[in-house]
Amino acid sequence: MRATVMYKAGDVRIEKVPDPKLIEPTDAIISVTRACICGSDLWPYKNMERTDNGRVMGHEAIGIVADVGRDVRTIKRGDLVIMPFAFSDGSCEFCQEGLQTSCVHGGFFGSIEVAGAQAEAVRIPQADGTLFRLDVDKDNELMPSLLTLSDVMGTGHHAAVTAKVGPGKKAAVVGDGAVGLCGVIAAKRLGAEQIILLGRHADRIALAKEFGATDIVSERGDEAVERVHELTGGFGVHSVLECVGLDQSMETAIKIARPGGAVGRVGVPQHGMMPASEPAFYHNVTVSGGPAPVRAYIKELLPDVLEGRIHPGRVLDRTIGLDGVPDGYRAMNEREAIKVMVQP
Ligand SMILES: [Zn+2]
Repeated sequence: MRATVMYKAGDVRIEKVPDPKLIEPTDAIISVTRACICGSDLWPYKNMERTDNGRVMGHEAIGIVADVGRDVRTIKRGDLVIMPFAFSDGSCEFCQEGLQTSCVHGGFFGSIEVAGAQAEAVRIPQADGTLFRLDVDKDNELMPSLLTLSDVMGTGHHAAVTAKVGPGKKAAVVGDGAVGLCGVIAAKRLGAEQIILLGRHADRIALAKEFGATDIVSERGDEAVERVHELTGGFGVHSVLECVGLDQSMETAIKIARPGGAVGRVGVPQHGMMPASEPAFYHNVTVSGGPAPVRAYIKELLPDVLEGRIHPGRVLDRTIGLDGVPDGYRAMNEREAIKVMVQP
C-alpha cells in the first residue's frame, strides 16, 4: 500500500510500504477513507532528526473495517469507524474514568512504534476500545466534521472542559490553528458569554468569529495581556484554552487568567519547563489539560455534529489525495491552509 513517510524535518514522501497485518487478536485493519494533517505533525516537520526507516505519519482518520482479529467483539468488517488519535482498551481503570489517553494498554498512532493513518490502511490495536462506529454513509456530507472528532474538535473541547468553561464565563483561546478554532466552538457550546481569540491570521479570525468569538486580540506577549485585561474589566478571563504549546503562549495564557481562573492546555509543550510559575501561584490559577481523551468525547459531541449545531469540519479548508500530502505539509507549515484533509 501507499503511505506517508517522514524521514526528517521537511522530508515527507509517499512510498510503497508493506500492507498492515493483524498482529494481536484484538487488532483490526481499517481501509482509510479520510485522514488529515495535524498541527502537531508540524513539530516533527520542523524538528525531526534523520531516521533511516522513517515514520508513517497521521493520527486522525475515518475508515472502513477491512479485517478483525479473533478476539474483537464489537467491531466487524464493513463498519465505518472513527479512529481517535490514541488507541485504548476501553476497559482499564483510566478508560473507565474517561481518560483513554492514559490507557495502560494504550498508545498513539503515527508514532515510531505504531504506524499512522496518512495511508491507504492502518492497523488498529485494541479495536474494541479504540474505534467508534458511525451509522452514516461513507460519503455523507458531514464527513469533514465527523473526522474532526478523531482529534481537533475533541481536543478543543478538552481545552474548554479543563479550563472550566461554563455558562456566563469569560473565556480566551490562545492560538488560531484548527484546535484553537474548535476551542472557540467548544467554549460557545459550553455557554461562555465572552470568547476572546488570540490570533493573527485574517482567514482564521473570520472563521473564529463565525464560530462565536466575540473579540480578537492580535498583539503578542505583554501587549496581548494588556488588551485582554482591557476587554475584561481589568481582571482577565475565567477560562483560558491554550492551543499552541510554546513558552510564550503558555506565559500569555497564565497571565490573562483572572485570579482563581483556569488554563486548559492542549498544545503539545515544546519545552520541558512551565513558564509563569509566579503569576500562576499568586493568582491561584489552575493549570490543567493534556492529551485529550477524544474517544470519551465522541459520544457527547456526535449529536451536535449530526444535527448541525456545530460545524467543526469547516477548519478543513483543503482536500488532497495521498500524492498531495507532502505539499499539504508545506501549505499548513506556511499557513496557506488551516488544516488539510486527505482522501487516499
Ligand atoms: Zn484502558
